[in-house]
Amino acid sequence: TQLKAKDHNDPYPDWKAGTPVPYAALCQTFSLIEMTTKRLIMTEHCAKFLRQVMRLTPGDLLPTVLLMINKLAPDYAGIELGIGESLIMKAISEAGGQTLAGIKAEQQAVGDLGLVALKTRSRQATILKPPPLTVKGVHQGLMAIATVSGNGAQGRKVAGIKKLLSAADSSGVKIDIHKDKGGPSEAKFIVRFLEGKLRLGLAERTVLVSLAQAVVCHEAEKEGKVPSTSDMEKGEAMLKQVYSELPSYNVIVPAMLEGGIMNLPDTCKLKPGVPLKPMLAKPTKAITEVLDRFEGQKFTCEFKYDGERAQIHYVAKQAPEELSQAKPDANQEAAGGVAAIFSRNSEDLSKKYPDVLAKLHTWIKDDTQSFVLDCETVAWDVEEKKVLPFQQLMTRKRKDVKAEDVKVKVCVFAFDLLYLNGEPAVKKSLTERRALLKNAFNPVEGEFAFAESMDGQELEEIQVFLDESVKASCEGLMVKMLDGPESWYEPSKRSRNWLKIKKDYLAGVGDSLDLVVLGAYYGKGKRTSVYGAFLLACWNPNTESYETVCNIGTGFSEQVLEDLHKQLSEITIDRPKPFYSHSSGGQHQPDVWFEPRYVWEVKTADLTLSPRYKAGWKEGVDPSGSKGISLRFPRFIKIRDDKKPDEATSSRQVAEMYRKQESVTKNKGPSVDDDF
Ligand code: ATP
Repeated sequence: TQLKAKDHNDPYPDWKAGTPVPYAALCQTFSLIEMTTKRLIMTEHCAKFLRQVMRLTPGDLLPTVLLMINKLAPDYAGIELGIGESLIMKAISEAGGQTLAGIKAEQQAVGDLGLVALKTRSRQATILKPPPLTVKGVHQGLMAIATVSGNGAQGRKVAGIKKLLSAADSSGVKIDIHKDKGGPSEAKFIVRFLEGKLRLGLAERTVLVSLAQAVVCHEAEKEGKVPSTSDMEKGEAMLKQVYSELPSYNVIVPAMLEGGIMNLPDTCKLKPGVPLKPMLAKPTKAITEVLDRFEGQKFTCEFKYDGERAQIHYVAKQAPEELSQAKPDANQEAAGGVAAIFSRNSEDLSKKYPDVLAKLHTWIKDDTQSFVLDCETVAWDVEEKKVLPFQQLMTRKRKDVKAEDVKVKVCVFAFDLLYLNGEPAVKKSLTERRALLKNAFNPVEGEFAFAESMDGQELEEIQVFLDESVKASCEGLMVKMLDGPESWYEPSKRSRNWLKIKKDYLAGVGDSLDLVVLGAYYGKGKRTSVYGAFLLACWNPNTESYETVCNIGTGFSEQVLEDLHKQLSEITIDRPKPFYSHSSGGQHQPDVWFEPRYVWEVKTADLTLSPRYKAGWKEGVDPSGSKGISLRFPRFIKIRDDKKPDEATSSRQVAEMYRKQESVTKNKGPSVDDDF
């Protein structure tokens, strides 16, 4: 028998079995989550709600999960809302019948656009009540806004937002969760979704765990059983693993509904066509640190090439069944079969590297039918036959490149193999993967090579190899565990089993940082027509906020400052977003604030504590709890357009760098195993 919603959650009158999930019901769960900072309680609320969706309206499980993680589609689909504050304000003003100036003033006063939308809505008397929003409807509406293109796109985006806002909070249900937090909230969460931050502190991992719990419970309940703890743990582990190899809820959720969670490893497999998130490395500051970490275990050193990470997928014409059904549009007809190249971010790079796609099939051995390759594309000097600096690679156009017009040639340096001839390889040791890689490909000078490697375990050998890497225009070394389960490929993880040694940072903090530009100061003297310095921040995924870490005014040429001024003046906002964490002292405020959009790579001499900045202030580095970490003598290196703002260096990583600086190799303080 069907259980009623009210048996499991706060009563929600309009939601009956088989009817669409009311958006208000999801927002009710969001409001509950918003009131806690405890991950276990968040997981419980999430799981409870997802269970209810499975019970009453399983067809809406996918859009529910997507709205929970603030995404419309998998990353590789390349669907982005890209909506700035000004468009949202316009829509709020039109939907609420108020002047734009009034909305702007409200925004100045309140600071949170979500609340502005809510206030504006509640002031408007609705004569003709639009039907209440549903989860599916909101997902579709947002999708339509994201995919509008062509003439008048902006106007149509505003119209789309307006439509959603006009229907928001029209169900009339008053949610009395907590006196100060209850009440309508749909407009608020729609606006926050558009801004890209729900600000619930709900990490994607938490949703994944909740989903696993919900499904395990639901499946047990259907069979009249109570799920055991071991079933729950098994379900969670399984979903995490499957998601890391096939990061697409659009594939996993329907498969789970149809075949059950325990069958996922059979129904959702790593296959060429769908990119997985690459494995990442941890920084180190000394070769001795590497030796300490790998003590007693075999490791290998590889050159760390300075180019662009690329994940190349290929399926030969003869083996079409090996191409994933879930493949995104990126997959192209290539010589010999179907192929695609994805960035570190799962973005489609196929249009940037038609020359690589054209030659791919000439690098493989006859019996290589399908593969997923992890590699670095590096600019190549054809005459001198050597690697060129990263800057050369950046001069290549990103889109619509014709193979015959390519000026900067690239060489592909392969360092890992994730799939070969129908079999995932991620759960093989690096020694095995390397052997498979070498057996499946034929190097071609200046086009395709295996990453240079050295398996010596002595400090002196590593030192010599590091020097060689630098002479060969590389950034330093990657040091990787060779054998056993610790050497398996760990998708999406920043792992202690891969360490990087960057020559430039050996004496400093171990690595450069990738930071988000939040604000700027007008220049002085020669620089008055441009911004002369900028306020940068790292990203705290737990609180979903940007924590400021330094002002920077060094490392920019005049030309770069002019370009940056042009680029950034288009995304100015009137006041800091509520999820910017910076000291409130008046004298430290920048002259202008920006939308969080650009990530810059920055070098620093060292890290220090400062009351002016907020980076890592909740990571326990300052006993008084008031100071953040800041960079000393920061220097601009380059724009990282392969990283999104929420892929910037995390507060935890900054804190870890700070701690390590205090205790170079003594291994004090906890280490962070991943970014969550
Ligand atoms: P992050 O700063 O988030 O760690 P990143 O993109 O700056 O990421 P690093 O961690 O500094 O990268 O270094 C890892 C990167 O080095 C890989 O993403 C890859 O692009 C590059 N790389 C070059 N050579 C190798 C190699 N032999 N093995 C693995 N990665 C390599």
